[in-house]
Amino acid sequence: MGRSYLDYNATAPLRPEVSRAMAGAAWGNPSSLHAEGRAARACLEGARETLARALGARPAELVFTGSATEANNLALRGLFGGPAGERPRLALSQVEHPSVVQTARALVASGQAEGADAIAVDGEGRLRPEALRRAVGRQTRVVSVLAASNETGVLQDIGAVVEAARAAGALVHVDAVQRFGRLPLDVASLGADLVTVSSHKLGGPRGAGALWVRPGVALRPQIAGGHQERNRRGGTEDVPAIVGFAEAARVATADLETEARRLAALRDRLWEGIAEAVPGVRVLGLAAPRLPNTLSLVFPGADGEALLFGLDLAGVAASSGSACTAGSLEPSPALLAMGLDEGTARSALRVSLGWASTAADVEHLTRVLPDIVARARQEAA
Ligand code: PLP
Repeated sequence: MGRSYLDYNATAPLRPEVSRAMAGAAWGNPSSLHAEGRAARACLEGARETLARALGARPAELVFTGSATEANNLALRGLFGGPAGERPRLALSQVEHPSVVQTARALVASGQAEGADAIAVDGEGRLRPEALRRAVGRQTRVVSVLAASNETGVLQDIGAVVEAARAAGALVHVDAVQRFGRLPLDVASLGADLVTVSSHKLGGPRGAGALWVRPGVALRPQIAGGHQERNRRGGTEDVPAIVGFAEAARVATADLETEARRLAALRDRLWEGIAEAVPGVRVLGLAAPRLPNTLSLVFPGADGEALLFGLDLAGVAASSGSACTAGSLEPSPALLAMGLDEGTARSALRVSLGWASTAADVEHLTRVLPDIVARARQEAA
């Protein structure tokens, strides 16, 4: 048995269609007026149209960035830094990605924001409606909530967020990185003002992300430079990466429903196999609507990092939390916010499937996991 890559929420292997599209992308500078520049401009604008179609947006509403992290920074920082003395607040859920959490902290530390209000989640990782109402008030400029958790796959009710924000006169930013290409996402009907998406979670290349900006929302550019991206993000666009991003989005959204059903069936089969073979295992967010590709497990009494290393040796790539928190010894703040104690949060293992995942991968993991968990529990005892 070869390797089984089951860490798509961290990144996905490049789709073959994407490699082909990138190889055909023009190399010129899209701001140049000569033929080479015009060819690159045509590629760039074609990719913008393709991505816009996949998102239900208009092409001019998209700002290409170098990553979703950058898009999240632009979305939040871009709304602050107004006239001195004006110090609005942000509200964000307790299960946000570090690129949102740290940006909010930086805005507060620099004095541009008066404070950041946390929206508490329940045991399934869903926003508590009363916490949402409490956190969003007249001083809130923006509410930032992810569409789907990178750690548990749990989906948030964005309609409720939009309603609470509108009642308070606040804007809404949605980090849709993990949802896009896995479940339907239509920015026109979502009701939000800013939406972040990323290329490499879909089987596109690293180095490309995008922010959808509702017409009329004024953002301060965070990278000063040329007039690229309608003056919203300086820097020569990475045309091949953007072409690859658009192709990944096109392919992922073309057969979205069939693929979502295929992945959900694999995920459910995986869970049945594990539940039968491993005592004491639990799935996080089981009672909530979730992404079809993500299974977030806890194995009380074992250490998640030990599980990860054991699996890696056995040929399976998974994650002990989000890739950004893996490597730090702290338990995931998102899992703690869901009410897990520290020991249980440290025993988490995230399995995430994607376009190249097969039944053989699921069987591989189901076969090797019971012994690895037993060993990890012995080591921790
Ligand atoms: N937001 C979420 C929910 C994510 O899962 C990630 C990546 O893990 C990001 C943002 C950042 O994406 P990128 O790697 O494109 O910066």
